This record gives sequence, C-alpha cells and structure tokens, in this order.
Amino acid sequence: MPKAPKKRPAAAVPDKADEKMKKPRQLESLATQTGMVSPEKTVELLCQAAGLVRTEKQEQLKWASAFDGSNMPGYTFGLLRVPAKHTFGSEKAAAPAYFTLANFSMLDADGHLYEDRCWKWDVQSCINGKGFCIAHGKACGMPSSHPDLVVCGFPCKSNSIMHKERFQEDALAEHKQSQMSFNSALQLLAKTTPKYFLLENVLGAAKSSAKASAGSAEIKETPKDHGEYDLPEHYERRMGEVLRQYSIACVELTSAPMAENRPRLWWLGSRDEGFRASDWKKAVEDLHAQACGLQRQSMHPYFHASQGGRGKDVEGPPLHETEALYSKYFSEQVNKAIQANRLPKDAKAMDRRERPSARHSHLAAQNPYTQAVADCLHMALPYMYHEQDVNLDENERNCRPVVADLSQNSARARTSASGWWGTLTTSSRLYDFVSGKVLDAAQHLALLGFDISKLNLGTLTDKDSRQFSFTVMLTTRGHAKSTCEATSKVQEICDLAGNGMSLGQTTKVFIPLLKHMGYFKTAPSKSPVFNGSAGFGALSGPIRILFAVLDDKSGASFDKRCTVIWLTGGGILSPACLKGWELRPSADIWAMEFEAEECDAQARTLYKKNFPKVMLARDFGSNDFGSKEILISGKCPEKKENLEWLLEACDKYMAKCSAKIVLVLASPRPPKELEGSRWTSGSHEVSWSAFSSFEASTFVTLYCKGNGRDAATGDKLAKALAAEMESCLRSGSEKCRDKQLQEPMLDLPTPAADAERTPAITRQLQIQAAAAKLKDSMANDNSKFRYIDASRKALKVCLAIPLPTKRSILLSASPGMDAKVGRVSLLDAMGYGSTCVNLALQPNSRK
Ligand SMILES: [Zn+2]
Repeated sequence: MPKAPKKRPAAAVPDKADEKMKKPRQLESLATQTGMVSPEKTVELLCQAAGLVRTEKQEQLKWASAFDGSNMPGYTFGLLRVPAKHTFGSEKAAAPAYFTLANFSMLDADGHLYEDRCWKWDVQSCINGKGFCIAHGKACGMPSSHPDLVVCGFPCKSNSIMHKERFQEDALAEHKQSQMSFNSALQLLAKTTPKYFLLENVLGAAKSSAKASAGSAEIKETPKDHGEYDLPEHYERRMGEVLRQYSIACVELTSAPMAENRPRLWWLGSRDEGFRASDWKKAVEDLHAQACGLQRQSMHPYFHASQGGRGKDVEGPPLHETEALYSKYFSEQVNKAIQANRLPKDAKAMDRRERPSARHSHLAAQNPYTQAVADCLHMALPYMYHEQDVNLDENERNCRPVVADLSQNSARARTSASGWWGTLTTSSRLYDFVSGKVLDAAQHLALLGFDISKLNLGTLTDKDSRQFSFTVMLTTRGHAKSTCEATSKVQEICDLAGNGMSLGQTTKVFIPLLKHMGYFKTAPSKSPVFNGSAGFGALSGPIRILFAVLDDKSGASFDKRCTVIWLTGGGILSPACLKGWELRPSADIWAMEFEAEECDAQARTLYKKNFPKVMLARDFGSNDFGSKEILISGKCPEKKENLEWLLEACDKYMAKCSAKIVLVLASPRPPKELEGSRWTSGSHEVSWSAFSSFEASTFVTLYCKGNGRDAATGDKLAKALAAEMESCLRSGSEKCRDKQLQEPMLDLPTPAADAERTPAITRQLQIQAAAAKLKDSMANDNSKFRYIDASRKALKVCLAIPLPTKRSILLSASPGMDAKVGRVSLLDAMGYGSTCVNLALQPNSRK
C-alpha cells in the first residue's frame, strides 16, 4: 500500500492522550479567489503575469495533436485569440473524440481526427492514406505540410501514481500502453517534423515505483534523490535517439493560480535555432513562478454551482436494508480511521440525524458506503486539522472549508482545507463539508479551465452507459456520414476531465512560444496585476463576490446572466464602474430613473446613449427581468421614503419572481437607519480623490435580504466591495486624477462697462473673474492642475474638483507654460468615455 501523505510539522502536540494520533496538519494558506474565475480571466491574468499582449498577427498557426483528450490546446488558442488551424489529431476513446468534434473547429477547418489505433504500431498507415479518420468517415491521408506545433499528451494510465498496477509491474515494459503511445508520439514527431513540439505526461513518470506515494491533495516536493528520475531519463534518451534535430527540455508545472494543481511534466522540443528548448523552458519557468505568486483560485464556487453531484436521486427515507448496510459500513470506516490514526480510539460518533448524510441532500443521494465514508471523515476532520472544537460556529467553518475525496476509504481519503485541490482523477468524488455538495462531473471540466456554459456535452454523461454514434453529429454539420460506432462507458465526463490538460498549463507553455512566433509582444507598460484587498481578488469582480458569498439556495451559477439596474444620478457607480467590472458581456443593463421630473432632457439623452434599456422606477414592479440575480446600483434616493419604497418594491419583486436582489447604492453621507426593515445593510466610505479629480468621498451601502449568513456579512461585504471598487477604478482606464478634463473655454464677449446686468451678463462676468483668479494662482507654481467653481461667491481655488451642484460652472487650469483655462467636462471626470454626448455644461442647454 502506498504511504500516507507526509504531514507537515505541527505547531505543538496537544497532550499525551493524543500522542498516538498523527500530528495534525497545519492549515494550508487558503485559496483567496472567492468567486469563480472565468477561463478568459485566467488567461488574461497569465498574459499580464508574463507582461505580454497580443499583436496584430493574424496568420494561421498550423498545429496537430495526438492523444487529444479534451483538446485543451485548441481551446487555449481560442482564448489567446490566436487563429490556429487544427490540421489533424488522433484519439482512441469515443467520448473525447466526440467532445472535440462537437466543441472545436476541427470540422470547419477540414482537419482530420484519426482513430488512435493507427498510431499504435505504424504511423506509416496514416501517412500513406490508410489511417481511418473519424471526421470524414474514411481513410484520410495525412496533410503534407509540416505543422508549426504538435502537442501530445500521451496516456498516463500506466505511469500514473494513482494506478494500482503502477506498483506491481514494470512501467517500462514494452507492452504497456503508455510506452506504446510514447513510441507512437516519437514516430509521429519524426514523420511530421514540426518546428516545435510539446509532450505532456503525469508527474508519475518522474518517480520510480518504489518511491511513489499515493499522493496528497497538497503540493508535494519533487523527489530529488538519485535513481528517482530513471523514467524521464529513459524517455529523454529515447527522444534524443529518435529526434536528433531537436533541442529538448523538461519542465514541471502546476496549474496555479487555478484551483486544481494537477502537477505535470512537459517536454518542450524545438528545431528552431533562434528559440532553443532551453530558452523556452526558462520563459515557461519564469511565468510559472509569477503565476504561483498570484491569488489562488478556490474550488468552492465550483461546489456552489454543482447541482446534483454524482449520485442517483433517491426518494423518501432510506429503506431498512439500506440503513443496515450503512451501519455496517460506518462501523468499518470508523475502525479504519482509528487504525490509520485519523481518529482516537475513544472517538464518539455523532447522533445519526446530525451526520452529514442525514443533513445534506447531495450526500443522501449517494450510496450507503459513500455516506458512511463521508460521515466518518466528518468525525475525523477536527482531529486531522487540529480543530478538536467541533462546535466551531458557521463563520469559522466557512473560513476553513474542508473538501474530501469520497472515492477512497476513510483511512486513505485525501482531504484539503486550502480551497484548492491536488489532482482530480477519473474516479474522484469530491465532497464539500461546508456546502454539503458533491462536485458535479461538469464542474470537473470547469476546474480544468473550460467554460462549461459554452460547451456542448451532447450525449456525454456521468451516470448512464449509453451508446452513440458520430453519424448524428457529422450529418448535422453537413459532412459525410461516418461509419464509426462507439460505445461509451460510464463516467465519460469525469474520464475526460481526469485525463485532460489544464488551461493553466497549456497557457504557460504556449505564451513564450507564441511570443517568439510573433503573436505576442512585450506589453508597453506592464499592466498592474490587481491585488485585491480584503482577501478578494479584483478580477473576480464585485458582482461575483456578492453572489458567491450570499447564500443562495437555488445554487446560483455565474454563467447565467444577471440583471444590473443603474439608478440614475449616481456618480461613482457609473457606467465607468460597470466597465471596470466587465459586466457588459454577462449582464442585462438597465437605467432606472427614480423620478421622471427630476431627470431633464440632457440627462435622458446621456442615459439613452449609454444604456440599452431605460425605465421609470414606478414601472419596476411590473417588469420581469428574466434573470434570478438582480443588482441595483447607483445613486441612493435622497428622500428616505423613496428608499423605503424601493426596498419594499424589491421585496415584492423577489417574492413574485423568486429572484435575489442586492442593492449597492452611493450617497454623499452615511445612509439613515431604516427602522424595522428586514434588509441587512452595511456602509463603507470611498474616497473619490483616490482615483478621480473630485474632492469628495461617497458612501457605498450594500443592502441584502437578511437571513442566516447574510446578516453578519452585510457590513463586511460593503467594505470589501468598496475597497474592490477603488482598486478597480484606480488601476483601470478610468483614472482621471490630474488628467486633462477640459472643454475649450467658450469665447465669452466682454460686456461693456455700462451694459445692463442681465442674468446672462452677470454670469459671463462671474466666469471671467473665476478664470482670472485661476490663472493668477498658476503664476507661482504651474506644476499642478487647479480647479474653481465659478458659481460660488468665495471663488476658492482647489487642487481637486469641488463637488458640483446643479449651478456649478467648473473651470480648470492645466499645468504648463501658458496655463490654459477651460471648462471641466464633468462627464470625463465621472468616467464617461469621450464618445458620450457632452451636454452637461453648455450654457444654452441649461434651463
Ligand atoms: Zn479526414
């Protein structure tokens, strides 16, 4: 039996009674990315970490693959916006072949997907046109042109440290599957002579069978002892023999900052003298080091989005027989845990009704054995994690969420308290003790980096054994019928995910190569990597934080669109923020005018330019926005009764449409206490001067419907949100501070000395006086922007824009020799783009 994972030293051994117990694990540093991070964001983050941006290059990159699996390389090219033509691939298993053809552009690009069996012994059959192609339903010849890149992830079954035969048989034996695949891969590379190649395999290849352990969920150190690298040496020797014209280097990667670690070995090969494998490796290692410093993404949102787990639905109370089976298994598991020193001998079992299997429906849907393992681990966790206090309150538990793999028994089951996981295998059945959810099969794919809302999983399933034929799909795509018939096996999706590559790694190995090939270049100035405060990454976005943290029984999925309603008149929560939050692609955005009469013509023009949909507040209740998640943000109604009315309207809407509404409102002063309101609220001050030229601050107040956890988190969330908004704005393109915010000075005629003092003339004189004062103030030090409000009697010169009123006429003087004075464009100052209509201060448009 493999050794149990190595424990890190604990701070202290509790007492004598526990001496025989294994030392408790020290808690890993927690994953901090609270919301689910989209694949686009992960890729963007890695590009930022590499300091690279996409160039204009649109030339097609020709690539090919073998042992394709889930085709993560093709998906990664798409996310990197590199036009890539998948000229051919090969896949043995039906499910991944189906997955590739259904989701990627191979068919459209007229690529070939060979059945893997032709690689097994003789690549020649493909080259001379005898290889059977699933995409065309016939034997297809291999494209004659050399691909730029070939990516192979050769099967890991016999090398995997998870595989039981790994410890009994010589993995080098020629008959082993991986050996055949490896040799096939070499043959393929030798025949196609791509300029570059990538070979991926599990880390197990780097460990001798004697030293390999079962692996823990935590990152393990690479073994450094002599003799442990005999396998890669063998592989490298073979590569050197067959691929003489290539320079080859090996790099070990994880998927950081993603939530699943999945350590893998990558061999990089190049026959380009200008970009040797060692250069490539160096760049990949640098990028990997940067990525390890990024905020770690968490698994918990994936549980949050899980629907049913991997069990069959059961109805009603367990049958008598089921319960008897459960009891038998439970007792066995407790004994196992005691033998493995995961539980003390005198451990007391919880009341049956208090155990997770009795409380969580996801677990109740599992078989009695799995339930028993989960319940037993639940008992053991406090000992394993040195949290003997089983009475931790809800918040503390939330801070230390524990996930366990229920596919193994209670003595061996791997667990993680860090919020991230080691490697998801094809058999993993992860259970989250906090949410009580079992991870969906589709979420296994999401953890690899796929946006599952955009995938076509077709007939792929994780429950039933089904038969399907490629014919159906191919005819719908207008291609020749395929004669291929394949019987899929159970757990296709988990198999697909377990054998797949991770986006975190494909991106890391691709970017340096793509830079060399001219698809990427060094970013002009390295964009700041967001460093969110309060433990939340800015990239997860405030909205995602809100909905991830707030309890949602409907199992909210962030792939669903949400509705954002902007209450007009608010400055800070303006469309600039929406842009910063990158909501536009995933939200329906409305503008809501609270009171029609207060909203004059020019403002309405502005809203219509910026918002696709505009409504009046009084019509709010009669709308149906479709989505179940609604965010209302913008200016807090000034009158208390209006705010009360709004909250009441939200109450009614939530009851009517069973939706969740969160309000994030800005007000110049802390909002008044609402007595008797069942809404939970929290406020936080945001200083505008941090990111704009305004000399003011605003209060961001968050209102959510108080129940359970929400009640305690309103204030915390408001603070986190406000901090996040500040950092978004500060680092985004909306940075306005000390920026030219001017409209040209209008050419004001100087009135004759004896002219009649009409309001218009008075106003002109006032503006001229203010402009003169501003210009004077620049005489001594003209290195700073200065502002003045000409509508005020005091005519105070400020270094930031004074908070405007309806009557304000704001002027600014820019630094420089001529100290030009102009009007301040408030729209610019608020972060509206220059393409917006700018009517705000035109004298003749005012009433
Ligand atoms: Zn073909």
